[in-house]
Amino acid sequence: MSLWLPEYEKVVMPSKRTGDTPRHPESPPRIVLHTTEGLRTFDYPWPPHFTLGLVGDKHSLPAGTYWWPDGNRKVYNGQEIRLQHCDLALTSYALLHRSGDPDTNHRGSHCVQVEIISKAAWPDEWSDQMYALVASWLADIVEALPELEPALDNYPAYPAEWSEKGSWGFDTPYRMTWTEWRDGINGRIGAPFICAHLQVPGNDHWDTGALNIERLTSMAKAILHPTGSTFEQRVLRRLRILEAKVKQLEAR
Ligand SMILES: [Zn+2]
Repeated sequence: MSLWLPEYEKVVMPSKRTGDTPRHPESPPRIVLHTTEGLRTFDYPWPPHFTLGLVGDKHSLPAGTYWWPDGNRKVYNGQEIRLQHCDLALTSYALLHRSGDPDTNHRGSHCVQVEIISKAAWPDEWSDQMYALVASWLADIVEALPELEPALDNYPAYPAEWSEKGSWGFDTPYRMTWTEWRDGINGRIGAPFICAHLQVPGNDHWDTGALNIERLTSMAKAILHPTGSTFEQRVLRRLRILEAKVKQLEAR
């Protein structure tokens, strides 16, 4: 099985890495959120599955031209950046894995990773538009891999502090134990979960900082199970994504 989502532009990085077979499919599937910490798309030697961004948003890409693997590309205000770099059926590479540590990227039947073009250090609330973008991506992932849906109700507590001082480093109180990373969190052994890079053991980054996973998952659930006409809302969502894609193609 190979899984490339049609609403996302397929961008294979120059490293040509597009995913590996999960090495520990006996562990529960999980989703890991990152922020790029730089306001552009990258040539990641070790790519995540997806990159998301929102042009002109104060927490994401500035308007104008920006770097792209195939050259500079014009972007317009309000444009959503939705890229896929790795096969969703395989694992990707954005976590640190130190030699001697248990597996990070390749742990779980799925370890879906996304880089959001933003910065962990921004102290303000993320905009509603950024939440909407990431929540719609999350809904797309759960639609593509329905076994991940329970992750929308299983995530670590919102960190009491999210500052570089309190959250950066290998030994912060927010990181899971290796046993939790292997078996599951919140005492739910074998249950799918979603977390941010700041909660992954054996890693020192503290992204996604202020992003509130509870708010994100409740928005994703509202997309997946809208009240009223489910069919109509789903069609409208698809149309909105396709419209964004057409604009993106026109802007080239
Ligand atoms: Zn990260």
